[in-house]
Amino acid sequence: MRLTNLKVAEQSVSFLQAVQIGLGKQQGLFFPQSFPQLPVDNLLAMPFQQRSQRIMQALIGDELSDAVIGKLVEQAFTFAAPLQSVKNNLYCLELFHGPTLAFKDFGARFMAQAIQQARELEKTTIVTATSGDTGAAVADAFYKQPGIQVVVLYPEGKVSALQEKQFSTLGDNILTLAVDGDFDQCQSLVKQVFDDQEVVSALHVNSANSINISRLLAQVCYYFEAVAQCPPDSREQIVFSVPSGNFGNLCAGLIAKAMGLPFKRIIAATNSNDTVPRYWNEGYWQGKPTQATLSNAMDISEPNNWPRIEAMLTRGLIARSDIHAYSVTEADTETALRALDKLGYVSEPHAAVAYSALERDLADNEVGVFLGTAHPAKFKQSVEEILGKTIELPGVLAACQKKDSLSERIPADYQQLRKRLLQLR
Ligand SMILES: *Cc1c(COP(=O)(O)O)cnc(C)c1O
Repeated sequence: MRLTNLKVAEQSVSFLQAVQIGLGKQQGLFFPQSFPQLPVDNLLAMPFQQRSQRIMQALIGDELSDAVIGKLVEQAFTFAAPLQSVKNNLYCLELFHGPTLAFKDFGARFMAQAIQQARELEKTTIVTATSGDTGAAVADAFYKQPGIQVVVLYPEGKVSALQEKQFSTLGDNILTLAVDGDFDQCQSLVKQVFDDQEVVSALHVNSANSINISRLLAQVCYYFEAVAQCPPDSREQIVFSVPSGNFGNLCAGLIAKAMGLPFKRIIAATNSNDTVPRYWNEGYWQGKPTQATLSNAMDISEPNNWPRIEAMLTRGLIARSDIHAYSVTEADTETALRALDKLGYVSEPHAAVAYSALERDLADNEVGVFLGTAHPAKFKQSVEEILGKTIELPGVLAACQKKDSLSERIPADYQQLRKRLLQLR
């Protein structure tokens, strides 16, 4: 797979290079010129892992052998993505059955495997900032991987206690730093690490954010899995609805469509951080200050994957009519959660945003699939308040809750972070 930098067209890299570099020159995203067309009917008849292996072979088979791709897929996709019926013609694609109970497990685990393949150096240090889900998925995916050190920065007291326990109790090669500051300060500290050439070369620093192309490619596979589970005669009528923040998940769905996956269109559903729906429906791009919402993993007003979607449109890989976009208010999110509960389906705020947008958009003869991106227990407090009932903690969450956090506390000060990082040499 050849990828070019969307800002600096002369910079062209292979898949493995893109995995290692992450972001290109001038902060440009790497993206392929086109995508291979797949024999879809054939693929949809296969089991998940075998099909995912075929999809990856078509994408990156020029760089990795079938055996290596088989191993990557087998080690990354160790859990199912079941399609749960909610009511007539409406389903939730449950993407939260992985080790950290969020869809980010798919991308993070595949990326961990891909980075191991791409790595030529003795040791790699992954430095990442998290406001919750990413930290847990990345820490779990790299836990005990030889030659890899992970450093997770997070704002002390500003991620849920449950989320903090998920990544701070692992130990081994996972160092977690509780920063006395907010998420923006954590992100700014990480940027300073990448600007510090001495630290970058001493520790071979790599990021693990959703810019990494390997995360997107992994997510393409579960769109195929969703369509495979829908009744065959409904395939041309499927409408996906995706709860969106950085728009990696939506971009993966569009890549699946560009590769020939039959579905009718895809909905970009956001909370009140609505830069994309306003842009899509009114025609101008204007970020505004980020607002805190119930669906906090989507509290982003400058989504970093959007240029990739724009490139797919410009290159004619997708059509404008393939996308509809809506924003959902906090009140409508709560209403959607309660409506789902009445249908016998306990959900959480991110999926509820997607469900609400889907209900607004879906026509009578169509089949709706909204993406369930997190287990309800990850948002236990808000779900319990809204639904007025108790949510059981799944075993993995209950177990890590009992362990002590191993985090070290640091001030939001780059020199202190630098000193700590250089001790890892
Ligand atoms: C990260 C996240 C999202 C947003 O996904 P993007 O790919 O960034 O659009 C939605 N829901 C949950 C639970 C998440 O953790």
